[in-house]
Amino acid sequence: MNLCVPDSKKSCAACCGLYNVTNGTRQHLERNLAERTILFATTERTADSLESFQHAVRRAESVQPLDSIIHVCEFAGFLDTEHSLVGCMLHPSAPDNRNVDLRGMCHYGSMACKAFYCPAWKELPSRMTKVICSAVEDWHLYGLVATDVHFVRAIFDFLDVVAGTDSWDSEVLNNKALSAFRRVLLWKQHWQGAPCSHVRRSAYYIKRDSCIESKSPVERILGSLEFAYRESFDSPAMRDCIETGLNDLAAACFS
Ligand code: SF4
Ligand code: SF4
Repeated sequence: MNLCVPDSKKSCAACCGLYNVTNGTRQHLERNLAERTILFATTERTADSLESFQHAVRRAESVQPLDSIIHVCEFAGFLDTEHSLVGCMLHPSAPDNRNVDLRGMCHYGSMACKAFYCPAWKELPSRMTKVICSAVEDWHLYGLVATDVHFVRAIFDFLDVVAGTDSWDSEVLNNKALSAFRRVLLWKQHWQGAPCSHVRRSAYYIKRDSCIESKSPVERILGSLEFAYRESFDSPAMRDCIETGLNDLAAACFS
């Protein structure tokens, strides 16, 4: 499965710095991406025009990166008229690029963009990515979830313990189970512990860590949510909430 673009309904652009902004809510990112996409459609594919586009986006968005090391690329936009697919507007297959690769204009340079694969590509087995792909149909949630190795593995570790095996058949989950999965995955987009937060940090660059994996799934999910929202949720109520959600998910999957 192509983790970056699993199907025609969603895609990811986390490594383009999409979520590395102080307001990473869906509504805010959608508006910025839509405005970039409209402007890019009328931008000539010349170095001067692309540079002007870059400056115009910077001025319009006044980006404050959460992490100064991660570039927030101005060239991430929507690649389809429905605004389902986020991605690189400099890619040779992007609209109106006529197979010309323009990624040399990127801060990282063309080679870095072409060669980068986030840790989730290697660290999430297909049984996990397939379920995520079936449960999520929205680019904003997909980019937050599919790249978070610890979050996804913690959910599956919990389910594997309940099932007593890691080879339960995740390919035949019914709609009820997929809805329950979606409710848990949605914690990355709306978490009850952070109702007013605008931060939605992506964990796309965080590699699998066996020390973290020795903690319980509940603790790991809590850590993942704390990272995403950049807040501490260290309370029994938050743990209860995660545990209840996981138990509901297990019931939907296995009953
Ligand atoms: S963060 Fe990973 S899945 Fe997302 S676009 Fe980059 S390489 Fe692809
Ligand atoms: S130029 Fe590179 S960083 Fe920018 S949107 Fe394209 S792939 Fe992402």
